[in-house]
Amino acid sequence: MIEKITIIGMGLIGSSIARNVHQNKFAKEIVAADISEEVCQKVIALGISDYVTDDLARSVEEADLVILCVPVGAIDSVMSTIAPSLKEGAVLSDVGSVKGAVVESVTKHLPEHVDFVPAHPIAGTEFSGPEAGFAELFNGRWCIITPLPETSIKAVEVVTKMWEGCGSMVEIMGPRHHDLVLGITSHLPHLIAYTIVGTANDLEDDLKSEVIKFSASGFRDFTRIASSDPTMWRDVFLNNKEAVLEVLQRFTEDLTALQRAIRKGDGDYLYDKFHDTRAIRKAIIDQGQA
Ligand code: NAP
Repeated sequence: MIEKITIIGMGLIGSSIARNVHQNKFAKEIVAADISEEVCQKVIALGISDYVTDDLARSVEEADLVILCVPVGAIDSVMSTIAPSLKEGAVLSDVGSVKGAVVESVTKHLPEHVDFVPAHPIAGTEFSGPEAGFAELFNGRWCIITPLPETSIKAVEVVTKMWEGCGSMVEIMGPRHHDLVLGITSHLPHLIAYTIVGTANDLEDDLKSEVIKFSASGFRDFTRIASSDPTMWRDVFLNNKEAVLEVLQRFTEDLTALQRAIRKGDGDYLYDKFHDTRAIRKAIIDQGQA
């Protein structure tokens, strides 16, 4: 058990961590911080922390563990606000969906006496805000930790224990590798969903109303993904440019090959591709990640 944990950004992820820490008593004191007065009021009403404040600098004073749960694009400004107030020996972590850019933003402001342990829970929903959070969100899900060469083993252990206490399994990898893997498994699918639903949105009014009325499960599934938070996803694409552009290039080439097979009536090619991809779905189910 640690003495004091501060969670900055009390939306879906931050409030889910607070609920967990509150339930499993990982910390004696939980401080919740958010710039939004409205969010702070909601967190007070939910009763998932010991103290709620919109004063970010004060929130981290004397905290043993500080977790940044704000959109990736807000990390730089949050760090410039809190850095002078972080106590000696504090452990700082985050939950950002991108790691390379977050490491750059944080290390720019990081005091020498603070250990930074970048982390990303591979768990989430399309909903935002403190009411959207729930304690079971991280159950059985992976959390990727991307320590820096100078991060102490002790700090990695603190963050690992916190995530294991939340029900997650922890894996360690480098930040750039994380960004490439997530570029394929998460960022590209969101970009495709935003594109498909955007194409439907641009249709003439009568055709659009029929698309909504007769939406088959394929389109419905894409609309769920494409209803994800616009701020969060804008920041992901702006901060994982290199990896996203790389996987997008590969995707475009594969799409062109399918387009050619359809034009040429190459059923064998289409069948083989669709057959092979089933194995991926099966592997995800077998590993309990469906
Ligand atoms: P969210 O529900 O929108 O919560 C973000 C919270 O941070 C909001 O309360 C927001 O307040 C607050 N905030 C924004 N700027 C701030 C600032 N400068 N200082 C303090 N608070 C600030 O978002 P989320 O889904 O929890 O995402 C948070 C982080 O988790 C992101 O970095 C995201 O990449 C990562 N993540 C998300 C998921 C997912 O599926 N959603 C999964 C894994 C990781 P306002 O509402 O007033 O803006």
